[in-house]
Amino acid sequence: MPYLWISKDGGPWSEFSLDVLTGNRFEPVPGSGKDLRLQRSRDDWVTLFGPDVTAAANGLPCTLRILADRDEIACWPFGEWGSHVRLIYSAERLATIRPFQKAQGAGEVICPRCRRPIAEGESAVVCPRCGVPHHSSNDWPCWTYGPQCNCCGQSTDPATELSWTPENL
Ligand SMILES: [Zn+2]
Ligand SMILES: [Zn+2]
Repeated sequence: MPYLWISKDGGPWSEFSLDVLTGNRFEPVPGSGKDLRLQRSRDDWVTLFGPDVTAAANGLPCTLRILADRDEIACWPFGEWGSHVRLIYSAERLATIRPFQKAQGAGEVICPRCRRPIAEGESAVVCPRCGVPHHSSNDWPCWTYGPQCNCCGQSTDPATELSWTPENL
């Protein structure tokens, strides 16, 4: 899932997964304090700023924006002199083991490691970089069988943390 990094009034960065929001309608961003809202639009996230906030995206004024990877949003709540919030959107995802769900209308999906089909509901990891699913169960530990994804070279180490943080700026 994509992440949002938040720093209020120059404080330390905190991070949260956009998984916590349903995304069905514009919802307040936890920890941002003021009138900042997010809504999901298919695979994208859209920010909306209320009338009580002045906001800029990558240095340009904005009221509504579809977030792109590494977008930096700054906002100044109206009437709170000196108060500001910085947000950085990271589209990076972590590999997570989930019951496999075929895309609607998709045919048989073959695991690139063992060349066997992955059944609906079987434990699997969808590679966060290339999107190719691999088995990930005790019987078929295909995802972690090698140090890297069979298709794109993404690390399969379960201890892998998010590789990008605002400290990289
Ligand atoms: Zn497999
Ligand atoms: Zn991959």
